[in-house]
Amino acid sequence: MNERENNLVASVPTTLFIGGQWTPAASTFDVCDPADGTVLRQVADATPADGLRALDAAVAAQESWAATPPRARGDVLRRTWELVQAHREDMALLMTLEMGKPLAEADGEVTYGGEFLRWFAEEAVRITGRFGRNPEGTGQMIVSQRPVGPCYFITPWNFPLAMATRKIAPALAAGCTVVVKPAHQTPLTTLYLATLFAQAGLPAGVLNVVTTTAASAVSAAIIADPRLRKLSFTGSTQVGRKLIAQAAEGILRVSMELGGNAPFVVFADADLDAVVEGAMLAKFRNIGQACTAANRFIVEASVADEFARRVSAKVAAMKVGRGTDPDVQIGPLIDDAAIDKAGHLVADAVAHGAVLVTGGHRVEGPGTFFEPTVLTGIGRDCAIWADEIFGPVLPIATFTTEDEAVAMANDTPFGLVSYVFTRDLARGHRMIDRLDTGMMGLNAGVVSNAAAPFGGVKQSGVGREGGPEGIHEYLATKYTLLPVA
Ligand code: NAP
Repeated sequence: MNERENNLVASVPTTLFIGGQWTPAASTFDVCDPADGTVLRQVADATPADGLRALDAAVAAQESWAATPPRARGDVLRRTWELVQAHREDMALLMTLEMGKPLAEADGEVTYGGEFLRWFAEEAVRITGRFGRNPEGTGQMIVSQRPVGPCYFITPWNFPLAMATRKIAPALAAGCTVVVKPAHQTPLTTLYLATLFAQAGLPAGVLNVVTTTAASAVSAAIIADPRLRKLSFTGSTQVGRKLIAQAAEGILRVSMELGGNAPFVVFADADLDAVVEGAMLAKFRNIGQACTAANRFIVEASVADEFARRVSAKVAAMKVGRGTDPDVQIGPLIDDAAIDKAGHLVADAVAHGAVLVTGGHRVEGPGTFFEPTVLTGIGRDCAIWADEIFGPVLPIATFTTEDEAVAMANDTPFGLVSYVFTRDLARGHRMIDRLDTGMMGLNAGVVSNAAAPFGGVKQSGVGREGGPEGIHEYLATKYTLLPVA
């Protein structure tokens, strides 16, 4: 680390944030830079008892935060957004250091992640209800919205800022208090964000942060506590399934943003320049470690060779290295397990007859780098067809009819996002109806936006984050009957 990086990392509080106080835990764990494996900082390692103390603080603050005027709640979010803008270079660098993404992408995440603060600052004052006479004419029916109550959030490492703000901002806007547990690989961004919320005037206890290597035990204790009212999780489907079962005990409200296996469908009539541009974004953004990453390229046979040729030329020219280098487009993967998975999926595809056009190997030396890769001739018997790659590997399969393309795209238990490229408007509309995903990019390689409802169908999850829908995850509908004389 250079001096600037050292100073920044040293400035981040590394204890638990509970009831507005920075609180040490009995032990600590290492947070490492995936670009070279060096230790960035040691962070408090919470126990289940620490987690419950954080919930105590959230419960204690719930009533007064719910009673805080919506405009005042929104103002805190707005001020936090302004502070995120003022500290955008620090936030971006911190994410690059602990997660590995290139600095330009980390800067993009500051914009995207920050937008949830601004969007929900604006939504806080637009929580409305209904009012009307009942059909019998004997009463007025009042339908209002109340905050759900104390929430627990578990976030992943791949978007350390955005995955936190996408939950925290709507919850706070709705009048809920929260406990957040960031991923153990990337806790520094959330801790830094907590300092900005405090500076923005968020009352003690409304936001609490617990960092831990005991995710399962800490979460189980919090989820089992009858005072908790809502669980929101972003991560793998496998963990999400377990958490839904735990949440069932207390009949908690749940939101689940889980895994994906996005199809990227290219019809022969598409603008191939736009396709290649969209493919590079949909596949290589965040080093391929995004739930929205295109996982299967399903290309009409007549243009498949041309697409493979053009995209491979771009992929082979990508610069791999530490994300702090401004020329780098591919940073390190998060850990050795991610490298092993990418290597296994490539080897399995080749064993099943796929052709390795470029890349395909771990980069020798320190850090967890994998070459950006293109494979052609992918069949449905390849493991890569079914598994979420979560790495910089672009596999290409082909089709000949629209029905075949639809069947291939929907051939997965996941349904987060799909990408379709065509110039045929009627076909585009048919695809909106026929592809089983919660989101779609129609001639677009990136769909995420704070003003849009993000989320999946099938095993990609339940609930939506962002847009006007996002705040409803944190509101409970209350119906009151008022008899009329
Ligand atoms: P993961 O293993 O499920 O971890 C996500 C979070 O869950 C981390 O904070 C982790 O803590 C915690 N966790 C792990 N096991 C737990 C348990 N038994 N009980 C409670 N918490 C537990 O996911 P990942 O592999 O790190 O992240 C990648 C996955 O997230 C991919 O499948 C991706 O598609 C998905 N994702 C989905 C979205 C979306 O919006 N749909 C967005 C981003 C990512 P530790 O840090 O201690 O492991």
